[in-house]
Amino acid sequence: MNKITLIQPDDWHVHFRDGDILKTVVPETDKNFGKCIVMPNLVPPIINGQMANEYKKRISKFLKNNLNLLMTIYLTENLKKHTLINAYKTKQVFAVKLYPLGATTNSENGIKDVENIIEILSTMEENDIPLLIHGEDTNPEIDIFDREKSFLDKVLTKITQNFPKLRITLEHITTKEAVQFILSSKNVVGSITPHHLASNRNEMLVGGIRPHLYCLPILKRDIHQQELIKIAISGNKKFFLGTDSAPHEIKLKENECGCAGVFNAPYSLQIITQIFDNHNALNKLENFVSINGTKHYKLPNNKKKVSLKKFKNPIKFNDYLGSKIKFKIYKPQFSIFWDYDNK
Ligand SMILES: [Zn+2]
Repeated sequence: MNKITLIQPDDWHVHFRDGDILKTVVPETDKNFGKCIVMPNLVPPIINGQMANEYKKRISKFLKNNLNLLMTIYLTENLKKHTLINAYKTKQVFAVKLYPLGATTNSENGIKDVENIIEILSTMEENDIPLLIHGEDTNPEIDIFDREKSFLDKVLTKITQNFPKLRITLEHITTKEAVQFILSSKNVVGSITPHHLASNRNEMLVGGIRPHLYCLPILKRDIHQQELIKIAISGNKKFFLGTDSAPHEIKLKENECGCAGVFNAPYSLQIITQIFDNHNALNKLENFVSINGTKHYKLPNNKKKVSLKKFKNPIKFNDYLGSKIKFKIYKPQFSIFWDYDNK
């Protein structure tokens, strides 16, 4: 197959940041996707409907297409029931994001103990509000490569047992244990990033440290990467694309204490298409990028279609985006032959 036409894909997890950065990064997602779930981990975080709405307006200034912005609220231990219900019912907020305390960029307001949010989780279950989870155990004694597994064992098991009808997305999954957990649970689905499908920790650490591949959850070993690929290309409806595109300007990445995040929005679809092609699974691509997530979130499929074409020579990636503030664009180690077919 040298050409493929798909329902326009969606990105179920993206970071736009705020301020000057928006005009550089927002158009990349706007070009490629029909709907996106926007992460709330700004400084200060988005903690109510009004803040979400104002943030949405700031992002919207840089849209040229019809990107549907689905806003989220940052779950803190102080979130009040009426604040959430009001934000959700007025459609200012589409979902709630749970960060464990200190899990990643700007998560200082995250959850210390799930026991402290039982009431809110119960409200969400009653009102069918989706819960998005950064699933890592941030206890300092847990090895960074085991943080996801520990979270499944100690926290997520508890949440799913207590709230069997809560619609949960375990975001940016990185391990075979997460795949297994999702397969065996009734109410948990998973999003997967392009970089966790395309790269593993060797790429980040062998022959020199590559700070632009540093993200959280951290890249894992090859056996986990292979399990993620296997489940993504299977077409299983519980798994879908969430790019976790997370720009940081270069000086914050190439730094003594570099920030976590991979900026992949510009070529994420080309990369994913190549991976599916490499595994003879192009017939399942649309499920992963356009259908499964839409179904889980109970939304309509995008009306627009996009076509990609396989070229004879590898496509040439731009290394950077932006002029005054620059971002390094994620590029995997293998060649990408797929690009948009604009003819
Ligand atoms: Zn993220």
